Amino acid sequence: MSRTETEPNLGPDGQDLRSRVEQALLDVQDPEIPALSIVDLGMVNSMRCENGRVTVSLTPTFLGCPALAIIQHQVERRLRQVEGIHSVEVEFVFTPPWTTERISPVGREKLREFGIAPPPCVLASAQLAKPACPYCGSEETRLENLFGPTACRSLYYCEHCRQPFEAMKPV
Ligand SMILES: [Zn+2]
Repeated sequence: MSRTETEPNLGPDGQDLRSRVEQALLDVQDPEIPALSIVDLGMVNSMRCENGRVTVSLTPTFLGCPALAIIQHQVERRLRQVEGIHSVEVEFVFTPPWTTERISPVGREKLREFGIAPPPCVLASAQLAKPACPYCGSEETRLENLFGPTACRSLYYCEHCRQPFEAMKPV
């Protein structure tokens, strides 16, 4: 999460409030992959806290995922529960677009635990590399279906442990 945005006029306990807001954002799950928070996905660009009013700037993930209204609602609902916050605003920023490179190391680990192969950290390698199996780590995997259960994921099959798995498409 970037802290380089304009630092707000913080009150005496402003820093604490900010930390509480950051903590609360970790509770907001991605509607597509509930194992991951919007923070893990790297969706949170910045936030400003001022006089009990918080503005959160989010970059939506895959354009195909019709989840923006849900995410906005969840952020508003969760942050209103934070003591000291009485007004919440959510902004969506579309440029530069979100890429799978923004998923945090913690987020990648959670994806794997959830049974979804995380996308490569560096997009340039995405065309060449096949995802490793999230269950056994084998790279003997093959693409079964480019279009998995959601637009964001593909179906793979692991030749080693003989299980199908999903991989998040690199974008
Ligand atoms: Zn496997």
